[in-house]
Amino acid sequence: MSESFFWWTKEQLDLYEKVKDFVENHIEEAEFYYWKRKFPWPLVKKAAKEGFFGVGIPKEYGGMELGATGGCITGEQLGRLYSVGHVFTVSILAGLEQILRYATEEQKRKWLPKIASGEQLGAVCITEPFAGSDAANVFTSAEKDGDEWIINGKKRFITGAGVADRYFIYAKTSEDPAVRKQSGHITSFIVEKGTPGFTLEKINPLIGIENVPNGYLDFNNVRISDKNRIGAVGKGWNVMMSGLNFERLIGSAILLGMFDDTIKLLFHYTKRRVQFNRTTNKFPGIQNGIAEIITKCKVARTFAYYCAKLIDEGKEPMIEASIAKLVATEYGRECALKAIQIMGGDGLTRFYPTERFLRDSKIGEIVGGTNEVQKMIIYRFSAMLPGSNVSIRLRWNDEIDAPLISKKDSRFKGLEVNEENILKVIAHDFKVNPGLYMTPDDVREDIGGGSRSSIRKIFEALENKKLIVVHRDRQKKIALVKASYEGLQQAFPKEHYQWFPEWYDDSDKF
Ligand SMILES: Cc1cc2nc3c(=O)[nH]c(=O)nc-3n(C[C@H](O)[C@H](O)[C@H](O)COP(=O)(O)OP(=O)(O)OC[C@H]3O[C@@H](n4cnc5c(N)ncnc54)[C@H](O)[C@@H]3O)c2cc1C
Repeated sequence: MSESFFWWTKEQLDLYEKVKDFVENHIEEAEFYYWKRKFPWPLVKKAAKEGFFGVGIPKEYGGMELGATGGCITGEQLGRLYSVGHVFTVSILAGLEQILRYATEEQKRKWLPKIASGEQLGAVCITEPFAGSDAANVFTSAEKDGDEWIINGKKRFITGAGVADRYFIYAKTSEDPAVRKQSGHITSFIVEKGTPGFTLEKINPLIGIENVPNGYLDFNNVRISDKNRIGAVGKGWNVMMSGLNFERLIGSAILLGMFDDTIKLLFHYTKRRVQFNRTTNKFPGIQNGIAEIITKCKVARTFAYYCAKLIDEGKEPMIEASIAKLVATEYGRECALKAIQIMGGDGLTRFYPTERFLRDSKIGEIVGGTNEVQKMIIYRFSAMLPGSNVSIRLRWNDEIDAPLISKKDSRFKGLEVNEENILKVIAHDFKVNPGLYMTPDDVREDIGGGSRSSIRKIFEALENKKLIVVHRDRQKKIALVKASYEGLQQAFPKEHYQWFPEWYDDSDKF
């Protein structure tokens, strides 16, 4: 199922073969650590030695320079080794994009080779006890003292807490409400393990991703050099945002390999499970279920690699990265549940990877911004696109005697702009769209003239006469208008609004 895509470069194709081989040869070792609930240090070191942690880092800093597509290819495969995939993800996310875009050359030379070699594992530290989805609400503070910063506060839910050496943190550097309003109150820093005052506070017992520690961190007067500050003071929000598309994409990629392994397992399993004297793969319901999983796998995978391509082309695919994350995690949960159902009781046991897929995809729906937050982003950013403001006008077609989507001028176009005609436009719209208001621009378009201010004055006059109902925006400006009952009566006789299908009996009309 997990075939390559035609737009991959030769180097990306080679990487795909290499990382796939690596994973195939180490699945049993990954299982071993999973069952032991031990962090798989030897396996992580082997993956690092292969250079996988440097997949997105430019060659001049010791990486492979294979972009977001390379990151996706590696994440998809390493995700099949459970904890190794998660550590890979947080380690490269703890600074890669942020350092590439915001660090000085000296900082790049210091940190990027360490990320690339996997010599230092990293952790991303955004979340705090009081800052979850509202990531800007950080309490952890950084105060300047000469050439140093003093950090105080707590972070929580940090993947890789304890095993990571490099912690990419976001701290508050201003209390000024005006600065905060512009999201200028946050600055980003790297804090290294072993810095005095920086301690591990708690490890969370979680539903999934079991053998990667996830926990709380405590910063008690932790002094770090100003050289550990990434980006300008007050630019932490931009630094955080700069990595988010990549982060969401890689977060979705690590689940993709699990879809594929689940499909292979289901083919294997249902050819060997006999009920009612038939192998279960002969039951149409089971076939439908597997087909559904294959479909969702292909959609999630194709979308993730499309998004990776956009990033590699230098685009900022905010909407697509959120969709990639949403689709991979929601489909992951749905497919895992379906797979469990197909396998019956076996699917619920730890002896098969299906229940783990369920637990990990559920986590995926919360980390990296919850899926509700992704939907908020998808809606808000889509609403800013030109397509969301195209008006789709229905006009009454007298020949068909029905409202049709039309690009023709309104029947009122060219009439004098006065109260009577504006009321007619608004009342006629009731015949076409009985449940909708009109925007002032809809009315202006229909009448085909008049300045916005003159039309607004007419609306106010009609409102005073109770002939129209208006909806005002927060600034109290008229945003929408519709005819009142009295307005409808004044504009047209009641027959204007009546409409019956041809087959409707005249004797039943009243
Ligand atoms: C396993 C795991 C690993 C993690 N790893 C890391 C890590 O490495 N680094 C890190 O910094 N963080 C990490 N996190 C934290 C993760 O990013 C947060 O849990 C996540 O952003 C949600 O924050 P929260 O848990 O505080 O939930 P809350 O923000 O309290 O959300 C609770 C509910 O309210 C909803 N909600 C909140 N705001 C809105 C809104 N405006 N509109 C609609 N619904 C809303 C949410 O969708 C959610 O359903 C991890 C979490 C987990 C569970």
